Amino acid sequence: MRKYKGNGELETVICNGCGKKLAVKQGILLEGALEVCHTWDYFSEKDGETHRFDLCEECYDRLVNELRIRPEVEEQVEFI
Ligand SMILES: [Zn+2]
Repeated sequence: MRKYKGNGELETVICNGCGKKLAVKQGILLEGALEVCHTWDYFSEKDGETHRFDLCEECYDRLVNELRIRPEVEEQVEFI
């Protein structure tokens, strides 16, 4: 979960999985985290609800290990 200052700058990021406070400096998140923001649609039982949460990298790894099928992983090419 994320908190923003009045000027829109990122203030804190807390992992919803373990409650760990992730490092944020001058509005920039300095650790790996998965940010989820999903609006459920008509075909779900949560129609119209937007769910937001963050997971630290450890909690993400734990979650992924419970999946029957692993996520697809693709290396990003960096253009400089
Ligand atoms: Zn965590």
